Amino acid sequence: MSRPCPCASKKSYDHCCGPFHAGTALPATAELLMRSRYAAYAMAKVDYLINTRPEAVRAGENREELKEYCKSVVCVGLKIVAKEKGGKDDDTGVVTFHASLQAQGRRSLHIETSTFARDQGKWVYVDGVVKH
Ligand SMILES: [Zn+2]
Repeated sequence: MSRPCPCASKKSYDHCCGPFHAGTALPATAELLMRSRYAAYAMAKVDYLINTRPEAVRAGENREELKEYCKSVVCVGLKIVAKEKGGKDDDTGVVTFHASLQAQGRRSLHIETSTFARDQGKWVYVDGVVKH
């Protein structure tokens, strides 16, 4: 018995992003990393959010700010709308997604095209362009 994963995969958390958050498995593709980061936002797993950034920018992440942000939004849903590379044999990947968020009672749609790369073999989130 397990709860559904917040990344909207319709799988149980324990068979989806749970092992990534626990550090017992690594996401094999950029999309899986993206989903697991979304789930980490939903669950306020700040360490995971920081550890999935490139090593060079990790120190600049603000734990408190991230935590406040996670607490201030409800992650309602996620839809992957496009992806490029990011597969098992790629070193870079681009994923475009729609994340439905709710903050202070208001729903909003966060549309972002994220760039991912491998950092010492591991997928990390490099940056993203948000569409307004
Ligand atoms: Zn998941």
